[in-house]
Amino acid sequence: MASVTVKSFVGLHQTSLENYNRRHSVTGLSKCVVPSQLKYRRLNVVAAKSNPKIAGRNLRVAVVGGGPAGGAAAETLAKGGIETFLIERKMDNAKPCGGAIPLCMVAEFDLPLDIIDRRVTKLKVISPSNVSVDVHKTLKPHEYVGMVRREVLDGYLRERAVASGATIINGLFTKMDKPQEKNGTYVLHYNAFNGESVSAGERMSIEVDAVIGADGANSRVAKSIDAGDYEYLIAFQERIKLPDDKMQYYENLAEMYTGDDVSPDFYGWVFPKCDHVAVGTGTIGHKPDIKKFQDATRLRARDKILGGKIMRVEAHPIPQHPRPRRVVDRVALIGDAAGYVTKGSGEGIYFAAKSGRMCAEAIVEGSDYGRRMVDEGDMRSYLKKWDKAYGPTFKVMNILERLFYRSNPAREALVELFGNEYVQKMTFDSYMYKKVVHGNPLEDLKLAVNTIGSLVRANALSKMAN
Ligand SMILES: Cc1cc2nc3c(=O)[nH]c(=O)nc-3n(C[C@H](O)[C@H](O)[C@H](O)COP(=O)(O)OP(=O)(O)OC[C@H]3O[C@@H](n4cnc5c(N)ncnc54)[C@H](O)[C@@H]3O)c2cc1C
Repeated sequence: MASVTVKSFVGLHQTSLENYNRRHSVTGLSKCVVPSQLKYRRLNVVAAKSNPKIAGRNLRVAVVGGGPAGGAAAETLAKGGIETFLIERKMDNAKPCGGAIPLCMVAEFDLPLDIIDRRVTKLKVISPSNVSVDVHKTLKPHEYVGMVRREVLDGYLRERAVASGATIINGLFTKMDKPQEKNGTYVLHYNAFNGESVSAGERMSIEVDAVIGADGANSRVAKSIDAGDYEYLIAFQERIKLPDDKMQYYENLAEMYTGDDVSPDFYGWVFPKCDHVAVGTGTIGHKPDIKKFQDATRLRARDKILGGKIMRVEAHPIPQHPRPRRVVDRVALIGDAAGYVTKGSGEGIYFAAKSGRMCAEAIVEGSDYGRRMVDEGDMRSYLKKWDKAYGPTFKVMNILERLFYRSNPAREALVELFGNEYVQKMTFDSYMYKKVVHGNPLEDLKLAVNTIGSLVRANALSKMAN
């Protein structure tokens, strides 16, 4: 098979946008650094072999949705020579989210530290009977879980895409006309807001060669390609402003509450943000009861959030597994639109940005830096790499969820296991670095025995309770 090695792939990493900490809003796009100021990492890619060359222009790709998935995808595409359009309906969107990100995301995406509100170095997991375990004992001095506000993170990633050459369109994507012939164009229809998201917008359309759907859990792009549905969890969250002394307690501390009262199939949380805490919970199988679970979560944290004022109430679906079809022809789904959230933890920010970058890299590679048309095979090469890199993580999370989230005794067993420092280290290392952690065989054996012991006990207790 003939392949051509091309020059280094310019792109993917850059320094922080200057002065971002002074703005922290998504109003102007003018103060971005120019691409020549950016630091690049080198990546060798193999150019496409057989797709036709495009004459007189570069490959055009529309990214629908400007969350972490869309922002990361658009940046990578633009740096790779693709004419990139990023369509976002709400430029100051504050996505309902806990905002917890793993340490590796800060480095991999060169996030400036000033967009991270809090560095969590303490994590308490609390059992149904209120046994609280500190699970941060093995954290090294430089390690932390980052807490971000989504309006800040998403705005920052979008600005970086623009600084790299992407064109941003403030509009609501409404529908897509598919190509009528091989290598024909996709026509995307949208309501353009021109900064006024309250107005109905002006009907506009754009022609592109390929489309990335990064429009979240209710993805219209997914519907347009008949990507199929996924099971979802409904997450509910309240932003609560605490009195100073209460806020001090949560300065660098996050809490996770487990129990049938807070959720029969997920967990409740208190996460610290810049000047408030986010208190929330979620459920897959008992959606009509979500407010009852939220009340219970607030009740469990009662003494610590006493005197707090609710500033904002929000809810949003969280996908539980990938959609049946994530690539159809020259349309690919990424992030929540594809269904990349780990079950049991609800983590999706890193996976959104990472899938955006991987999908865009596949397009840059397949198109030979925008010089050639891409085909479904090029788009699919991202799926292959994605499934290889993250498939095992998603599988393990599924198994853990099934083992430990099914009853209160099982959750007591989970919290008991978290008391073990080896378990803490394995859990944090896998979360922080998104790599398969190779354990110590003897400790692994002890862990297996402990896990079985805890589960057997949990089972017995469960039977006694019934
Ligand atoms: C309550 C809650 C708490 C969570 N907590 C965490 C957490 O602590 N850590 C974590 O890692 N994950 C968390 N998640 C999951 C995380 O929020 C998602 O996985 C992540 O936001 C996915 O990013 P995305 O870019 O794929 O989609 P989104 O963030 O949903 O972004 C989609 C974007 O597309 C835009 N859009 C949608 N439709 C259109 C359209 N038709 N036209 C134009 N634009 C459109 C939206 O405005 C939005 O900006 C949480 C989720 C919820 C609901």
